[in-house]
Amino acid sequence: MPHTTSYTPQNWSRRRFLASAGTAPVAGLLATGCAPPEPAPAEVAEDIYARLGLRTFINAAGTYTALTASLLPEEVRSAMDAASRQYVALAELHAAAGGRIAELVGAEAALVSSGAAAALTQATAACVCGSDQDAIRQVPDTTGLKSQVVIQRSHRFGYDHAIRNVGIELVEVETRAELEDAVNDDTAMLFYLNAATNQGQISREEFAEVGQATGIPTLIDAAADVPPADNLRAFTRMGFSLVAFSGGKGLRGPQCSGLLLGRRDLIDAAYLNGSPHGNSIARIAKVGKEEIVGLMRAVELYVEKDHDAEWADWEARVQTIVDAVAGIPSVEAEQFVPELANVVPHAGITWDPERIPMMRSDVAQALRDGEPRIEPRPGPADAPRLDIGVWMMQPGDHEVVAARIAEILSAAAA
Ligand SMILES: *Cc1c(COP(=O)(O)O)cnc(C)c1O
Repeated sequence: MPHTTSYTPQNWSRRRFLASAGTAPVAGLLATGCAPPEPAPAEVAEDIYARLGLRTFINAAGTYTALTASLLPEEVRSAMDAASRQYVALAELHAAAGGRIAELVGAEAALVSSGAAAALTQATAACVCGSDQDAIRQVPDTTGLKSQVVIQRSHRFGYDHAIRNVGIELVEVETRAELEDAVNDDTAMLFYLNAATNQGQISREEFAEVGQATGIPTLIDAAADVPPADNLRAFTRMGFSLVAFSGGKGLRGPQCSGLLLGRRDLIDAAYLNGSPHGNSIARIAKVGKEEIVGLMRAVELYVEKDHDAEWADWEARVQTIVDAVAGIPSVEAEQFVPELANVVPHAGITWDPERIPMMRSDVAQALRDGEPRIEPRPGPADAPRLDIGVWMMQPGDHEVVAARIAEILSAAAA
């Protein structure tokens, strides 16, 4: 890991000054006390939120955007810092970083977007407009353009606005036969939501196959689906034309980054349908040099990472929490791993509300009100159950969380 403390802005400007100051006595004087003390980077981060009157918290939830999702690894932070200190041609950076990411994940091409949602918009625009400049300027008016996107009814979701932004009509189907029937000259794209795999009748493989057979591009939203790391390759290999991931969730890249992988011609078109191209639909989802470099570095780290060791560490954190609540009357706790999206070990804690008269929302509020503030995983407010995500915690957090949950439940236990 690079020695990062020398990259603080304060340090940088002082070092530059010292380098040009020339005479040793002046430099010596500055170095021995006339310069203001330099705050450690951690103090700066604490101050910025405290100054706004905000309380930071232990993330015992997971990669939730509203909770700011993930924290950057030091290597990503310093790569973004380095990127912020030089000018570069954005087109050249997009191409180079996209190429590097594509190579790392075995895709034909890749584009860094400002998030998975923006990747959905750019992907849809690529399928509707291609590289046609008139079409790129015209959307969301789709007159004369392919204007339908086919989706399984059970795959309609809270982010499909990102697809509808392009002015298309979502055509809902349920079976493979309906999917095949729905395809016509107006069909721009077939969309699949990975998190809803178990809710639809058409499997991923079949869906990609229909795309291949009909020549209609397919897009799969896999925003929250790393880990497993293999998913970075699995969907392009399966035959999907385009795959979208969040940069700021499991990949631990910048919050405002996302990744679109897939076919070269479509990735090139997706790029033309967004920043830095002014008159394009996704110009509103600009991604800067810091995010592009940050996501590239995050993907490098992610593919190099020892995923088994990380998994074992998450399991150990869950076990600490499970053990901490084990003796409390009526409480049962166990590890669970969601089957799709956020596929990592969590702690699930349940109790008998007759013995512990609290619901999830009460326990969550107590965790939020304590010191330090703790944010648990969201879920139905009115259930005698609490879920804890451990993978976005910082070292040692799990012990604090375990003790605090045990304290709250024990105090309420009859
Ligand atoms: C989080 C999420 C998104 C949005 O991702 P951003 O990177 O925040 O834009 C889209 N789709 C699904 C399924 C998600 O979970």
